[in-house]
Amino acid sequence: MSTADAAESATESATEEPERDGTGEPIRCEYCGRRFAESDLLALHRGLAHAGRLTDGEREAFETAYAGEEEGLRLFRLKALLALMALYFLLLFAYSIFG
Ligand SMILES: [Zn+2]
Repeated sequence: MSTADAAESATESATEEPERDGTGEPIRCEYCGRRFAESDLLALHRGLAHAGRLTDGEREAFETAYAGEEEGLRLFRLKALLALMALYFLLLFAYSIFG
């Protein structure tokens, strides 16, 4: 699953159930009007859906949000790998003791 897919699924769920930011105003994309629960999700959406017409500040926000998403995915992969290794050895020991 790519980062783009993750961002897209995140933005879809954000659109179904729009929440409000701390300001009390829903966050809307100024290009297409979609609503987002978090400003990071809006930044990712702008970078993916409106990449051609971003301002410098919006591009910077997209790159920051994208880097944060990459870091989150990297940590998730690491945790998933560790969990798989733990399960593997658990089953191996269980087989050697009870098998
Ligand atoms: Zn948009």
